[in-house]
Amino acid sequence: MPSNKTLLMLPGDGIGPEVMREVRRVIDWFDHRRAVHFDVSEDLVGGAAIDAHGKPLSDATMEKAMNADAVLLGAVGGPKWDNLDFSIKPERGLLRLRKDMELFANLRPAICFDALVDASSLKPEIVRGLDILIVRELTGGVYFGTPRGIETLPNGERRGVNTQVYTTSEIQRVARVAFDLAGKRAGRLTSCEKANVMESGVLWREEVQKVHDTEFPGIQLEHMYADNCAMQLVRNPKQFDVIVTDNLFGDILSDEAAMLTGSLGMLPSASLGATDATGRRKALYEPVHGSAPDIAGRELANPIATLLSFAMALRYSFDLGEDASLIEKAVESVLAGGLRTADIMQPGTAKVSTTVMGDAIVRALDKLAA
Ligand code: NAD
Repeated sequence: MPSNKTLLMLPGDGIGPEVMREVRRVIDWFDHRRAVHFDVSEDLVGGAAIDAHGKPLSDATMEKAMNADAVLLGAVGGPKWDNLDFSIKPERGLLRLRKDMELFANLRPAICFDALVDASSLKPEIVRGLDILIVRELTGGVYFGTPRGIETLPNGERRGVNTQVYTTSEIQRVARVAFDLAGKRAGRLTSCEKANVMESGVLWREEVQKVHDTEFPGIQLEHMYADNCAMQLVRNPKQFDVIVTDNLFGDILSDEAAMLTGSLGMLPSASLGATDATGRRKALYEPVHGSAPDIAGRELANPIATLLSFAMALRYSFDLGEDASLIEKAVESVLAGGLRTADIMQPGTAKVSTTVMGDAIVRALDKLAA
């Protein structure tokens, strides 16, 4: 049956192709059981693209990514390509995708599945039922601001400089994404900066407040200093619904929040760009983990982070929230049944391979849809 939903899959390197294979099975399941059809194409990125074309992302692949409704990426990199020049390393493929697609909003959910409550370093009562979303500004701030560099001063000392810089439009567009998402969740947004010591933080706070007052008055907005947010995330993370923050603070806070929930093999992410005239938003979905060369090709990879990234694509790019929830529920029930890949093993659970975890999730989908 023809489909108007285009999905570009870029498995990449290491465990990327292994975890992506399990997503492909879930896509086939949707095709057969839910009559949800995707026009799927697959291409190369990272080391695999270097081996085939001499560069980590060909122009033709970039063009396909620009035209797809959603891009799903596995992971890039590995020891084989470690000694290449920085300009053609596998990671440059991923950076080009993010840059050319202008993906300014990075979404990192931190969800604690009941069955994995004990995998968190925090007490079960602090993390049980946790479901928060961090929205990190991804294309501005101190990682990109100029002037930057290391200079030698006349007295021989060296000085390193980076510049934290944000414009009103950069703040407003990421704030809009965050308010919009909060509206689809519990309706609460916490905006984090350091307005007490940084002018860019003062501007951030004022602009977020303006967007709230003029466009999203129904959302409950709170401003919080980023250092306080770091403390609150380990003290009482369930107080949050959606958090929006800049590139630097978001880098740190999203990793902190992720670890509340346990393993790297469980963490999905989405990066969103601007909407075009037709209302379509450029989007890239990928697990937070890398290519894990230490376990690649050994059926040890946990495919759940990538499956949950695909669920995010269903929710945010295809407006198929119910189908996204179905995948999340299938994962939850397989974990509750005691099956685990090696990275999330606990006493009393059964260790399974990547493929067997995929089998179990497809069977759980069957049951849920019956
Ligand atoms: P990594 O995330 O690949 O691995 C860290 C550890 O977590 C390893 O022990 C690995 O076995 C384990 N792990 C990761 N994902 C797992 C999964 N799904 N199931 C089970 N265990 C999993 O990080 P690293 O070792 O620092 O980097 C390895 C390579 O990946 C490097 O070349 C790095 O540049 C690249 N990398 C790529 C991305 C990306 O593509 N977005 C992100 C981070 C690192």
